[in-house]
Amino acid sequence: MAKNPVFDKIKYFIIDMDGTFYLDGNIIDGSLDFLKKVKSTGKDFCFFTNNSSNNVEVCKAKLHNMGCDVDDSQIVISSHVTIDYLNKNCKGQSVFLLGNERLTNDFLDAGIELDSENPDIVVLGFDTTLTYEKIHKACNFIANGKRYIATHPDFNCPTADGFMPDTGSMMAMFKASTGKDPEVMGKPNATTVEYLERKLGCTKDELCFIGDRLETDIAIGMKNGVTSVLVLTGVTDTELYNNSDIKASFVAESLKSLSEEL
Ligand SMILES: [Mg+2]
Repeated sequence: MAKNPVFDKIKYFIIDMDGTFYLDGNIIDGSLDFLKKVKSTGKDFCFFTNNSSNNVEVCKAKLHNMGCDVDDSQIVISSHVTIDYLNKNCKGQSVFLLGNERLTNDFLDAGIELDSENPDIVVLGFDTTLTYEKIHKACNFIANGKRYIATHPDFNCPTADGFMPDTGSMMAMFKASTGKDPEVMGKPNATTVEYLERKLGCTKDELCFIGDRLETDIAIGMKNGVTSVLVLTGVTDTELYNNSDIKASFVAESLKSLSEEL
């Protein structure tokens, strides 16, 4: 039994990275102890990030530099959800991918055919190498009725000196040009919950999302009937939370204080 009954049934904590486990490249005090506590109570965890400009190696290296070593299987990215969805639902269809080299390699490794001339589907990832030529092509394909999928909806990605525009901002630009919205894969959408249930071999009642961003980390819980914990170490403070309609199952100052509830 957990000290807090909210966590009794939980088998897997799905932990957001930036603003939850670390901030600006520095581990947040108590994060490693939280992982130890999870393990010592017979539960397990994995990391989940919406940031599809990173791959497993980049995430693992970042964590390693903070003294946290995990297996490949413990890093889940919105790109994995997207690739799994494409392989299950759009087998054999070609993709015009807006993504950097890492995302492109992940798609190729998964056997997805890439086509920049006559694709079946446009996939918008966090493309830090986006050019006007790619934007122009994508808008033409989308306007002409090609299926359109985005890896995740975040408007901004936190950086050491503020933020940079993320996939959600590009979605807004494409909407302005084409009038079309994509099917969105990562947090807060059901596709991510279903993917994790299958990957981890558990039910959604046994999952708990932990994160700092209401519209993704907490909304995925609220929209899909999954337990969620808001930590106040990142982009959300108490005032923002109190004024929001998006509510978590539990609010913790940090992972450190959440340890006391297990
Ligand atoms: Mg975050």
